[in-house]
Amino acid sequence: MTMKGRKLLMIPGPIEFEPQVLQVLGAPTTSHTAPDFISSFGNCLRMMKQVWECPDGQAFIMAGSGTLAMDMAGANLIEPGDKALVISTGYFGERYAELLKRYGAEVTVLKSEPGETVALSAIENALNTNKFKLMTFTHVDTSTAVRVDPKPIGELGRRYGVLTVLDGVCSVAGEEMRQSEWGIDVALTASQKAIGVPPGLALLVASPRAMEAWKNRKTPVGNYYCDWTNWLTIMQAYEEGRPSYFGTPPVNLVAALEVSLKMILDEGMEARVARHKTLATEFRRKINDMGFQLLPVNENNAANTLSAIYFPEGITGSDFMASMAKSDVIIAPGLLPDLKSKYFRVGHMGSVNSSDIVSTIAAIEKAISQVRN
Ligand code: PMP
Repeated sequence: MTMKGRKLLMIPGPIEFEPQVLQVLGAPTTSHTAPDFISSFGNCLRMMKQVWECPDGQAFIMAGSGTLAMDMAGANLIEPGDKALVISTGYFGERYAELLKRYGAEVTVLKSEPGETVALSAIENALNTNKFKLMTFTHVDTSTAVRVDPKPIGELGRRYGVLTVLDGVCSVAGEEMRQSEWGIDVALTASQKAIGVPPGLALLVASPRAMEAWKNRKTPVGNYYCDWTNWLTIMQAYEEGRPSYFGTPPVNLVAALEVSLKMILDEGMEARVARHKTLATEFRRKINDMGFQLLPVNENNAANTLSAIYFPEGITGSDFMASMAKSDVIIAPGLLPDLKSKYFRVGHMGSVNSSDIVSTIAAIEKAISQVRN
């Protein structure tokens, strides 16, 4: 343990949070209908649409984790018997397939090899074979550190009249995001990653087309808490500065979100994405120099928010992880069931800076030398 009394948190969420964000979490909690809070909530909804680059979208802020945001999209857009296509690049694609089945979807999964993406031709082929209502994909799969290019998937969605749902839990505010331009219908995330707020917020922006699809449902939404019938008027009220109530919002987390979104927009999305890219490239170069191999097969598909790294030959993974656990840097184990014991993960998003990268590399070097001896 360092003299600071804490370790450097370098996992792919939760991440290290800015002191200004943490400070408001400890401020006295106000009423969820207090004018200041209504203004904060409205600002958050407006700033989300800026970060997502979706000016005509409908933003939702819910108490819950990223899985709730996934659930909200599934619950509101799927009716029993609808066909859904899941483009899976890892663990979280599998989760989406299971989730959509709960709402009665007939799910087809297109699954990539670990570290790879699904070919666009395979997606187009599937769209030609079946009339899907919706397709989901994971922008950055946190189990593989593979990033998928949303633009051509958005285009396919438009061309084939299929709604597109982007799981951006490990990408939004760390990777490029142009929801409107790309034609993505739902882009969802959670607070604890590149958004920079402790766990507890499920965040989502829905396109006019997604809202239209929800309005045209023939059956009620099969999830009471997630139902947009309950939440749309609440979000609209907050944006218009009026008090409203359905379920008590997480007041302090929303106040923290306002601070973090302001910091994100002050940095500017372009500069922020460039910073993530620079630091990720620096981290990967150092990792490669040390003789490690990355899970993403193609460097162009390597995420800028985290890295997934195979243990080198001759190193026992559990020994390395045990040695890292004694260091001042916290990293994450593997997550993909089949490869779990063969790799580890390092998050580098949000407030991350160059010294964090250097400290992490140094800790990894030291752990390696300890387990090699
Ligand atoms: N999707 C992705 C890509 C994720 O990385 C995660 C969390 N690691 C989730 C979904 C689920 O989010 P949560 O753990 O906040 O429910």
